[in-house]
Amino acid sequence: MTSTARIIEQLLLPAECLVCHALLAERDADSVVCPLCRHRWRAVRPPWCERCGQPEPHFGPCRLCAEWPTALTVVRSAVWLSDGAREAVHALKYRGLPRIADDLAVAMAGVALPTDEASVLVPIPLAPKRLRERGYNQSEALARALARRWRIPVVDVLIRSRETPTQTALTPETRLANVAGAFTPGRRPGVNLPATRLVLVDDVFTTGATLAEAARALEQAGARTILGITFGRAVIPDFT
Ligand SMILES: [Zn+2]
Ligand SMILES: [Zn+2]
Repeated sequence: MTSTARIIEQLLLPAECLVCHALLAERDADSVVCPLCRHRWRAVRPPWCERCGQPEPHFGPCRLCAEWPTALTVVRSAVWLSDGAREAVHALKYRGLPRIADDLAVAMAGVALPTDEASVLVPIPLAPKRLRERGYNQSEALARALARRWRIPVVDVLIRSRETPTQTALTPETRLANVAGAFTPGRRPGVNLPATRLVLVDDVFTTGATLAEAARALEQAGARTILGITFGRAVIPDFT
């Protein structure tokens, strides 16, 4: 975000926590969520499926990631999408508060992913119409904030050819069908896809269908190693 946008946002925002409305201490004035609320975010922890990072010990093959493209090897999320974390994502997406991305990226930066110096962050794109409506892509805001912490670049190598209908059906299979063909590879300025570790960045992981479909498009374009990271992980009701 530009410094002008940041200044305007600071003028418009009260110096209080977005979630609990406690006044922010001066040293936290750069944050949108107070340290106490951030402390309440519940980290996603193992035991989990080594590939998709879904907790609950699995017996037999994991249903969530069974249909994923081969190149998508590791996906992790920072925190469970419980009350405070859900509000923070909502503010990032719908209240025009891209500055909150910095607070969310603090939690994401602590996630262990096998990245190296040849890794790049790839935000999940929005379709052009939605991008115009929202004015910014929340996944790109997260990727840029995370890139400052991890010191790896952000590259836009994906195009969203269509926005997908809001996903109300909850089975992994239905969700995969829902996003089929939603992404196509875009320009790749200076990026050698086969040699680069691509780290997809999104705000929320529900069944991983969006990440899987984006990975499928990149794999078809030549990418061999794709990872994924999201801030939140939704609890899937009755998923076994
Ligand atoms: Zn708070
Ligand atoms: Zn899995």
